[in-house]
Amino acid sequence: MKICCIGAGYVGGPTMAVIALKCPEIEVVVVDIAAPRINAWNSDHLPIYEPGLDDVVKQCRGKNLFFSTDVEKHVAEANIVFVSVNTPTKTQGLGAGKAADLTYWESAARMIADVSKSDKIVVEKSTVPVKTAEAIERILTHNRKGINFNILSNPEFLAEGTAIADLFNPDRVLIGGRETPEGQKAIKTLKDVYAHWVSDDRILCTNLWSAELSKLAANAFLAQRISSVNAMSALCEATGADVSQVSHSIGTDSRIGPKFLNASVGFGGSCFQKDILNLVYICECNGLPEVANYWKQVIKVNDYQKNRFVNRVVSSMFNTVSGKKIAILGFAFKKDTGDTRETPAIDVCKGLLGDKAKLSIYDPQVTEEQITRDLSMKKFDWDHPAHLQPSSPVTNNKQVSVVWDAYEAIKDAHGICILTEWDEFKKLDYQKVYESMQKPAFVFDGRNVVDANKLREIGFIVYSIGKPLDS
Ligand code: NAD
Repeated sequence: MKICCIGAGYVGGPTMAVIALKCPEIEVVVVDIAAPRINAWNSDHLPIYEPGLDDVVKQCRGKNLFFSTDVEKHVAEANIVFVSVNTPTKTQGLGAGKAADLTYWESAARMIADVSKSDKIVVEKSTVPVKTAEAIERILTHNRKGINFNILSNPEFLAEGTAIADLFNPDRVLIGGRETPEGQKAIKTLKDVYAHWVSDDRILCTNLWSAELSKLAANAFLAQRISSVNAMSALCEATGADVSQVSHSIGTDSRIGPKFLNASVGFGGSCFQKDILNLVYICECNGLPEVANYWKQVIKVNDYQKNRFVNRVVSSMFNTVSGKKIAILGFAFKKDTGDTRETPAIDVCKGLLGDKAKLSIYDPQVTEEQITRDLSMKKFDWDHPAHLQPSSPVTNNKQVSVVWDAYEAIKDAHGICILTEWDEFKKLDYQKVYESMQKPAFVFDGRNVVDANKLREIGFIVYSIGKPLDS
């Protein structure tokens, strides 16, 4: 058997590497139109940072795992074609600001139809709107020359930062297919691949639409949990309650459970906002505006939380950060990844730059190039899609510097904003940090990673999300 995966990104690369490792008899080729990405997959410096990934790739690359830009050749030869291309939010035209942009998907489907000379199972690995399989079937069927295509939905639930562990030991693998004998046969073929390492009870088989919708629903529920606890954090600050104590108290209820209840500066990443917007659009298209509004609130609370954090920084520092140096610790949207897509750090940094702060940014896995690009991008206003929000404030060399050491970022700073929960930020020598800063020295902990009381003993003024404030 030969598997080909179109799209060598955060999902395509790791998922195929794990399939190759677990199924040594299957040839797995990951293809992409982006040559630099493929070159990086073939080098010692993989294009994404993910704990454990290097090891998996090293074990099978060149044996049964290959990375190539020869997209058409490998698609033509494959029995199973995974499509793991990007599905961003549309920025113009019908549905702009909400609907998924399926341009990449459609062009991949047309190419599969064009180059195929044998029957194929085509697997939706990307997150797509419910009913996408119907559109894909039309494209494939319309162009086929006596070839049978079976479409399966097999959404990916890995989380960046723990992708390899998630793939090795998934909570579940979801496979949706047509309820026809051919559809069921295709499900069985894909199930046999996963059965190499996933137990039968963890492989869930559903109809196509349930599988497609389940992925959007899962991300919406996860993001909703974060917005719910963040909404509580605002109330905690207003009342003197402590959000960690509230989270613990509600998380011990077995109906609620303890995971995903950490208050923070907000969620980020390429998926949560985009998938909720997609869900909102689908609700609106299906005449369900109240349901759409319900999910919209999850994003609105997230935006509110980021603004609230910026306002807290500025108001605490005597209502202005103009000309003050602020150290930004962490820029990635979460620890153990170098991914900055939709990271809350972008909005926080832009907010502070808008008040003329000087930022010194450090993240162990994010490059200066990424930060410069992210801070100069105009923000798309999903609520008013006709407009781009005003261009970002000045981000010239005088206002932003990117450094490769936390202590260097902090030296002479008036305040520190912790925006990613990297373990190293817990372990800094805060006495040394305090001595190197301007006084009064502020710490704004957007991830609740530091021991606020210890820092207060040293002399810091500390703001932690959802915790009683310094008097
Ligand atoms: P990505 O942007 O990292 O990778 C997508 C890749 O597809 C890019 O390298 C791009 O060059 C390639 N591509 C686009 N069109 C192509 C074509 N026609 N032929 C060949 N290659 C093509 O995206 P990602 O983060 O890997 O996400 C992929 C999909 O998986 C998205 O739908 C996303 O929503 C979903 N998803 C992502 C995550 C995550 O944590 N990143 C988790 C679950 C699901």
